[in-house]
Amino acid sequence: SSLVVAVDGTSGSGKSSTCRAVAERLGLRYLDTGAMYRAVAWWMLQHDVNIYDIQEVTAHADGPRLESGTDPRRPTITLDGVDVSAEIRSDAVNAAVSPVSTVPAVRARLVEQQREIIGDGGIVVEGRDIGSVVWPAAGLKVFLTADPDARAARRAAEAGTTDVTATQESLLNRDRIDSGRAVAPLTMADGAVHIDTTELTLEEVVDVVVGLATA
Ligand code: C5P
Repeated sequence: SSLVVAVDGTSGSGKSSTCRAVAERLGLRYLDTGAMYRAVAWWMLQHDVNIYDIQEVTAHADGPRLESGTDPRRPTITLDGVDVSAEIRSDAVNAAVSPVSTVPAVRARLVEQQREIIGDGGIVVEGRDIGSVVWPAAGLKVFLTADPDARAARRAAEAGTTDVTATQESLLNRDRIDSGRAVAPLTMADGAVHIDTTELTLEEVVDVVVGLATA
């Protein structure tokens, strides 16, 4: 299959779980572009780059060598050959990733790599700008949203934390920066199907997306 399914949306709207399940059901590859931005942010923190200094971030944008595994059952992200799947989910990275993602040099570098991975298609790709910038020709574009309360509750449960308020603040802060940045702001792409997942189970969302992809 050469199908490209582009799934964008707000933080914690259920993109990752949905995309992995859809990819498995349809026998497609899976790419988590958020993990790539997270890995770059983590690398910058490790190398004492001031993530609020655009020039410094730009100078280091090509520093880390990234590789994304695209098996939906076992997605991986490696930095200079080391798997950082766990490290990139830390609170420090949650706070640093959106500022780093505003920097054009970081985006240019990752978008180029994402397009190479998508290649001839057969893949479900999740992010913020997939349908609008990375692959506007996607055969199916989906935009996922959910109420902040629902998103925070799900994300806190995943992370095994009871601090739903702090989790919600972190999500909303990322949404604010992602929606307000100058380059590739989070927005619903032309032709995207909007799904509000607040009242839906994961299985229901997956069924809707698989239905759209095979229609
Ligand atoms: O998808 P996830 O929540 O892991 O993404 C983390 C952050 O990476 C987002 O909040 C956003 O700042 C950035 N991102 C982006 N463009 C993408 C994917 C993620 O700017 N395509």
